[in-house]
Amino acid sequence: MNTPPPRPFIPFDHSYARELPGFYADCQPATVPAPVLVFFNRGLAEELGLGLDGLDAQALAQMFSGNRLPEGARPIAQAYAGHQFGQFNPQLGDGRALLIGEVIDRHGRRRDIALKGSGRTPFSRRGDGKAALGPMLREVLIGEAMHALSIPTTRALAVVATGEPVYRERTLPGAVLTRVAASHLRVGTFQYFWAHGTPEQVRRLADYAIARHYPELLEAEDRYLGFLDAVAERQARLVAQWMHAGFIHGVMNTDNMGIPGETIDYGPCAFMEAFDPRAVFSSIDEMGRYAYEEQPRIARWNLARLAETLLPLISDDEGHAIALATGVIDGFVERYRQHWLAGLRAKLGLAGQVERLGQSADGADTALGEAWLDLLAAQRVDYTLAWRHLADAAEGKEAPLRALFPGQPGLERWLERWRARCAAEDAGPDAAAARAARMRRVNPWLIPRNHRVEEAIAAATDQGDLTPFEQLLQALQRPCDEEAALARYAEPAPIEFMAAFRTFCGT
Ligand code: AMP
Ligand code: MG
Repeated sequence: MNTPPPRPFIPFDHSYARELPGFYADCQPATVPAPVLVFFNRGLAEELGLGLDGLDAQALAQMFSGNRLPEGARPIAQAYAGHQFGQFNPQLGDGRALLIGEVIDRHGRRRDIALKGSGRTPFSRRGDGKAALGPMLREVLIGEAMHALSIPTTRALAVVATGEPVYRERTLPGAVLTRVAASHLRVGTFQYFWAHGTPEQVRRLADYAIARHYPELLEAEDRYLGFLDAVAERQARLVAQWMHAGFIHGVMNTDNMGIPGETIDYGPCAFMEAFDPRAVFSSIDEMGRYAYEEQPRIARWNLARLAETLLPLISDDEGHAIALATGVIDGFVERYRQHWLAGLRAKLGLAGQVERLGQSADGADTALGEAWLDLLAAQRVDYTLAWRHLADAAEGKEAPLRALFPGQPGLERWLERWRARCAAEDAGPDAAAARAARMRRVNPWLIPRNHRVEEAIAAATDQGDLTPFEQLLQALQRPCDEEAALARYAEPAPIEFMAAFRTFCGT
């Protein structure tokens, strides 16, 4: 007789389910007809210590489709609320995702493992609970590119094609993505507890979040204010990194802002190519609420929504609580600016001796950076190439940079300012080469170019050909190393392509 082999065991923990009863629903994944493993992140599996080495692709496909969850899994759909495009929805939750458990990785960090596209849950509302292959491959490509750029992000562990059609504007192949996150706690999680729970339950959530993500605050007397402050700090840092990479999240609803400070929820996101502060690609963001330049402001707005849920914990005196929380929210502007300025200096090659120049350099360096971005915006210059060629210019190779700014006299004047600023901290004969090398480490040569991403997805979806996806993913692993063989991935998308380019939420 054919007895199936025993299910593999993963030593999952379930701290969220254990500590926050009432804020999730136990729920099993749907069974899928013909699971095929299309992506498996071996490096990440190793980092997580999952011990899956002995499993073949078929067994992994069964596991990560949800057909045969490992022993130790306890799938739950988490509850959350959220402001979507400014409108409060008290009832969102995992409508097509299931947290199957938490593991402690090889670095001792607790990580969530969740399926996305695994079928209906009590939070599905009118949705089918499913995901299409294309958007899941997009999440892999963009998320892994972010990771390679050292930007905090959730990561994709696996993608399994389900062999089942999903119905969107057209019929598409279905898929389940396995997502790894520091946690899936969101601003929207706090909003749900606040809207549906007691203040005591909000406190339990905050204590849970503090213990998990900000343990240094555990003993602090004003730990809830400290928590708000710490989340603000991580968001300031994260959004500054997005801005410097030219990343547009696309749907910064409060349910898509993670408490741990990771980039989460890759839907209509994209990397900007031609520089335009108003850039927005999402088909549903008609007002440009989540345009590139709006991101810091939106982060602050979202943090104010988090603050509202914490007020009763911050102080019994509501007026006092509001004053304290407002201090943190208002402080976000300066906090973001500091992160942005530090990143700017690194990109400009000015990382050297900022201390010696003192505070007075802040205004001048900010103005220098803004003038550069104005030049880019004026001619819609490719954001990534401009920075990369500025690194070349740091060691005297200026022609590639000039070619990006045809007939622009302002470039010459700006370069003079920049060279003078560099000279103020230069020392030694190798300064120029060292600066160029430093700049190349923070100004990537490769980003996931939109036409390449779409081409890879189209090949996978329409022809079942995964080769372009795999090659692109491979290319994005070392984004700062220039390699002649990968030159096609560094080229900007054709203008006609970008003119028509729209992204979708992938629901
Ligand atoms: P998102 O736009 O991905 O952040 O999702 C917003 C909300 O819609 C979340 O509650 C999701 O779980 C839910 N959702 C998105 N797509 C689906 C779907 N196909 N079926 C059920 N719920 C969905
Ligand atoms: Mg979401």
